[in-house]
Amino acid sequence: MIKGSECLCGKKVVPKRDICPKCGKHMSEAEFQDFGRVLTLTILHVPPEGYEGPIMFCMVAIEGGAKLVCGYEGDRDLDIGEHVRIKKIDNKYICEPLV
Ligand SMILES: [Zn+2]
Repeated sequence: MIKGSECLCGKKVVPKRDICPKCGKHMSEAEFQDFGRVLTLTILHVPPEGYEGPIMFCMVAIEGGAKLVCGYEGDRDLDIGEHVRIKKIDNKYICEPLV
């Protein structure tokens, strides 16, 4: 499972945060499934600290309603709409194809 937060207004986020980005109220801790579907893909040639570039990043819609940006280090391209599993490694979120 992946730890995140949810709000009474229905907003769900990963990773966990205290204040709802939608309504500004306090959020409570929630757990989400560790798989989802690729919404968008982007390749970063200058990656964020802690990642080796170039790296593909994708926005994943997690089962249950939250969205999360994951790195992808596999050797083939992912497709939009593809189902992926999400892993948290060294505080980084990485996704891999669900095959
Ligand atoms: Zn809210």
